[in-house]
Amino acid sequence: MNMNLGLNTPSAVPKKEEDDLKIRDLYHRPLCDLRVSVIDQCNFRCSYCMPQDHCAEQYTFLKKDQWLTFPQIERLVRMFAKLGVEKVRLTGGEPLLRPGLSTLIRKLKKIPGLKDLALTTNGSLLYRDARKLRKAGLNRITVSLDTLDAEMFRQINGHRGTLERVLDGIRECEDAGYECIKINVVLQKNIGHRRILDLVRYFKGRKPILRFIEYMDVGNCNHWNPAAVVPASEIVDLINEHFPIEPVESNYYGEVASRYQFADGEGEVGFITSITQPFCRTCTRSRLSADGKMYTCLFANHGIDMRSFLDQDVSDDELLNIIQSAWQKRDDRYSELRAKPATPRKNLPKIEMFQIGG
Ligand code: SAM
Ligand code: SF4
Ligand code: SF4
Repeated sequence: MNMNLGLNTPSAVPKKEEDDLKIRDLYHRPLCDLRVSVIDQCNFRCSYCMPQDHCAEQYTFLKKDQWLTFPQIERLVRMFAKLGVEKVRLTGGEPLLRPGLSTLIRKLKKIPGLKDLALTTNGSLLYRDARKLRKAGLNRITVSLDTLDAEMFRQINGHRGTLERVLDGIRECEDAGYECIKINVVLQKNIGHRRILDLVRYFKGRKPILRFIEYMDVGNCNHWNPAAVVPASEIVDLINEHFPIEPVESNYYGEVASRYQFADGEGEVGFITSITQPFCRTCTRSRLSADGKMYTCLFANHGIDMRSFLDQDVSDDELLNIIQSAWQKRDDRYSELRAKPATPRKNLPKIEMFQIGG
């Protein structure tokens, strides 16, 4: 059964012919990409994700023996690839805290059908790992960085790490020859306009592409409130006033960022408008938590325990069936329904951002 979402943000790019062969959910969305969280721990305590007060008091991180092992991750990714997933992104928590990550990357690179392997990191350990990960086969990297103000940097991340280290790490990525480097900036009211423009000035004309992300109500512990959200349109206008930009088409079906290029040809910026212009209509993404739960939405209340199936030694065919039937039952569109009072499951506890990695 296919339902019509009737949403307002169609992707500018038509789907590819290969997409017709992919498995589809209830809204006819193909399964194209997978995010794999390799660890829930983090060396930062960002206020919008894992605020210090909440996490120190109420959350028990997974123990090492609860993590999916590398062979288990490899097997599950192989199954997702058989079902049409071409892009995988490693994330966390902070993925560079997982020992031996290059080994995992080398293994995943060999999986037939997988065309693109990316990673999202807070950048604090890139000075150490950027080249090693690139050499292992990582294609693209995204670094989260909200400000170039050293004091504010530490205020946002719970007084951990230093801005200099992250900037060094980004330079290492530029030198290491990544195919694409993105910089994620979460937009919150406390990041003033001057700091946004500082970021634009700093990265404009360089390889890293800035992407501004509206502050989302993920998880339960960030005390989200709509008043703290800065609409991306406000930042589009701000940047355009100082550095003229013009919209460009999406690179591919299901791309979440709205892209703009600088009119002087010095690169581009992107905006992820999960709050003001949700993009559930083209959401093609599945997620695996570090302990092996499969989620079909960032705002899910429940995941399928894939690890228990691995522990029961189920066959590849059974795994394929489990993933396929989960996707085919998928009806998630939380961001589209956010504003509606009668949204089902709305008040149930959600998975935390640091458990599935964005
Ligand atoms: N620790 C890594 C990092 O920070 O890049 C990877 C995991 S982190 C959960 C993935 C992305 O989610 C980061 O770019 C982070 O800025 C973003 N994020 C976390 N909480 C968010 C929120 N409440 N709203 C929007 N983006 C958020
Ligand atoms: Fe850690 Fe990333 Fe969450 Fe910040 S956003 S607390 S770096 S997992
Ligand atoms: Fe996808 Fe869920 Fe986000 Fe909608 S709310 S875009 S379905 S992850």
